[in-house]
Amino acid sequence: MRKDLVINSQQGFNVKNGDTGKELLDVLAGFRASSWNRKKVITFMASDKILAVDIDGVVLNHAAGMHAWAINKGIQVGCEPDACDCYTMSPMFPGRSYDEIMQLMVDFSQDDGFASMPIMSGFESALARLRDLHPEMKLIAITAPGNSERTKALRERNLRNLRFDEIHILDMHASKRSHLDRLPKSAIFFDDLASHAITAEEVGLTSVLFRQPHNLGDDHTLVARDWEAGFEIVRTKFAGSPHPGAE
Ligand SMILES: [Mg+2]
Repeated sequence: MRKDLVINSQQGFNVKNGDTGKELLDVLAGFRASSWNRKKVITFMASDKILAVDIDGVVLNHAAGMHAWAINKGIQVGCEPDACDCYTMSPMFPGRSYDEIMQLMVDFSQDDGFASMPIMSGFESALARLRDLHPEMKLIAITAPGNSERTKALRERNLRNLRFDEIHILDMHASKRSHLDRLPKSAIFFDDLASHAITAEEVGLTSVLFRQPHNLGDDHTLVARDWEAGFEIVRTKFAGSPHPGAE
């Protein structure tokens, strides 16, 4: 039931593809029939506490997952995951062209290993503490790993235990602008690709560049070197305090 809801906190209690009338009452009736607490539901629906995140390199350790997958497939690797300092992963796959590495990424996105990538260090702890502080917080994923049905299913399986409210799955390396632009301006968004972080800033969101070896050369208004720093940035934003600044 909860997944059917998309709430626009700027416009009030809206139901996806519906309006604020009978459909909302029907939804609430459904929650009353369930174990949900109605007051909590209403608080959830009205929340302006929105944590939106990219997934690869922010929530899931894509480099570690792909490294393990490649070794398992007998594909030669050129470096450890945390030494892969190029977004196109050329150090991990030396001697291969850009197109060949992109094909490896596509192959990985179709493999069972894609659903078992390790969660980034510190993310679960940060998320648990934020949910303790703000039970009404919404968690939204905007991720561009490829949008085949197989890839979507694997991605959702990998994220299942993190209890996302929405998961937006886009074509590989697609622009996130239209999805970011639809978020309430109160949202805070994390990405490890500087161009996506810039887009989020351009559409009016609080935007954080999540530090990774491949973006060490990029600067941004807000930078989180890890999820402990990320937690502090989100905590202070939700508290209405000034941002702690960059790393
Ligand atoms: Mg990413």
